[in-house]
Amino acid sequence: MASQASASPARRSRARRLKPAQVEELFRRLKWLDPKPTTELEFSSPYELLVAVTLSAQATDVGVNKATRKLFPVANTPEAIAALGVDGLKPYISTIGLYNTKAANVVAMAEQLIERHASEVPRERAALEALPGVGRKTANVVLNTAFGEPTMAVDTHIFRVSNRTGLAPGKTVRAVEDGLLKVVPAHYLHDAHHWLILHGRYVCKARRPDCPRCPIRDLCLYKDKTPGEPEA
Ligand code: SF4
Repeated sequence: MASQASASPARRSRARRLKPAQVEELFRRLKWLDPKPTTELEFSSPYELLVAVTLSAQATDVGVNKATRKLFPVANTPEAIAALGVDGLKPYISTIGLYNTKAANVVAMAEQLIERHASEVPRERAALEALPGVGRKTANVVLNTAFGEPTMAVDTHIFRVSNRTGLAPGKTVRAVEDGLLKVVPAHYLHDAHHWLILHGRYVCKARRPDCPRCPIRDLCLYKDKTPGEPEA
């Protein structure tokens, strides 16, 4: 322990990183288990996805889906959302956290899409991030899932999994995003963020990771794995 404590940050960081062959193997297994991963948010157009992701900040996908199943049949275009207005939108999303702010953002976003983008969701990061309520993570999800770009939308699950495993350790979300873009093999890049989110949500959970049944247990560098034997 003493030698670890005195190691330089660079040495510590090197020690905690998976090697390229291990990264390849990690994604090979996640892909084998789930060949076609996707978001658990329900959507049928880039605009529906953009609205759903905007609503999902600090909310569960299940909760967002419950709300959008009522909202989208009534309003699933920028014009229809703008026509609803903030007060008309609120009742549909009032079960979701921060709904007052989100309602204002979603309506302002609809108005901006109508005015500046001919009611289409833009495919460029800068234009997406200029929309009200849209940050880098939301832009990354839309670019990846609606438009097929190999972006890495780092959420709390990906941040945790990347640090625990040694896949792409980093102190900030952006450091982890940049690290993942460097180490994830190109052929896994498009789906990587879905695999990592699902792994974090259902296996490598925040409070108590389910290490005994984790398919990448032997690769993972996390020092405090939960005890138990993998099931036969
Ligand atoms: S072994 Fe445990 S800590 Fe490592 S990825 Fe699996 S669940 Fe997470």
